[in-house]
Amino acid sequence: MSAITMRELTKVYPNGVRALDALDLEIADGEFFALLGPSGCGKTTLLRTIAGLETASGGRVHIGERDVTALPPGRRDVAMVFQDYALFPHMTVQDNIAYPLRIKKVDRRARADKAAETADELGLGALLQRRPGQLSGGQQQRVALARAMACHPQVFLLDEPLSNLDARLRLEARTFLKRLQRELGVTTVFVTHDQAEALALADRIAVMEGGRIRQVGTPTEVFRRPANTFVAGFIGSTPMNLVDAEVRDGELVVAGTRLPVPEGVQVTDGEKLTYGVRPEYLDHTAEPASGGLRGRVVVVENLGSFSLVSLDLQPADAPAGDTPGTSLQVVVPEGREPAPGDTGWVVPRPGRSLL
Ligand code: ATP
Repeated sequence: MSAITMRELTKVYPNGVRALDALDLEIADGEFFALLGPSGCGKTTLLRTIAGLETASGGRVHIGERDVTALPPGRRDVAMVFQDYALFPHMTVQDNIAYPLRIKKVDRRARADKAAETADELGLGALLQRRPGQLSGGQQQRVALARAMACHPQVFLLDEPLSNLDARLRLEARTFLKRLQRELGVTTVFVTHDQAEALALADRIAVMEGGRIRQVGTPTEVFRRPANTFVAGFIGSTPMNLVDAEVRDGELVVAGTRLPVPEGVQVTDGEKLTYGVRPEYLDHTAEPASGGLRGRVVVVENLGSFSLVSLDLQPADAPAGDTPGTSLQVVVPEGREPAPGDTGWVVPRPGRSLL
């Protein structure tokens, strides 16, 4: 049992910053769990508080059955991999990996064997006698992982594990990390501010803002059913369109156009709501389309296999050129892009809109 439970966990730094605000969270045994959120939301503080590198100002942390709130880092049975890997530059790869075993007073022979075995598992077998300065960024990251693994901790804590790698290596390391976590089955918590990384790697994600958790869910849940506009805007490679809507005669009015109310949502006449739809779930046409929103194309961004098209919406009955100030972004496949200044219609795909 190495599930992690946090109850009303609070961290107030001496300067008065409330980095964690009575936070409740449960991470399941064996889970690959992401802490995701913008800069300064408290992700690293939460990770360091689980590790025991920060002392909680209030609340409790349990690892498995044990209340670890008052325990020092060395007695929590967790291993943390830091963003900069924190390898000892003067030690060989082998000594770096074996270091925690030395602290635990494991004898020299057993340490060397364990370091060699772990290095082999991570494809570092040929590099045991090198020093960190003689390794690539990806290799250094693997040494840091190997050092964390060598002790068989109950919990892995990874602070922005991929952020020091260049874009191509990051994709490779992402796949490697996911496979490794699957094979080891160790409860792993990682911090990232990159929503794509969280979606790709995690079994579940906690989206944080201002020291609080705004939603916990699987990647599909936070992508498909964001609990609030903060999560809706934060998740997704292009932010979700969020526009004002009003209910009239059982229909939605968005920028002067009537749209059906998404299925399964109860609304009352006169209610003012936020209508949300991802740019990927809107179809763009140059011809008038029923159930479509009319707009004038203002920006076309070429993103390779698709373009991101921004339109200023115009009410169906307003003269062309009269814009009420609501914009939408639409993903348009390569070769079908409109030109700036064109009038177009965007049609939400059924079942993909949110209120
Ligand atoms: P980033 O993605 O930029 O690393 P984060 O989500 O990890 O951000 P934290 O580093 O946990 O955020 O910081 C949360 C808040 O606590 C921020 O307002 C930060 O300025 C503040 N903070 C962090 N460490 C300290 C400290 N040692 N002393 C005082 N305030 C701190």
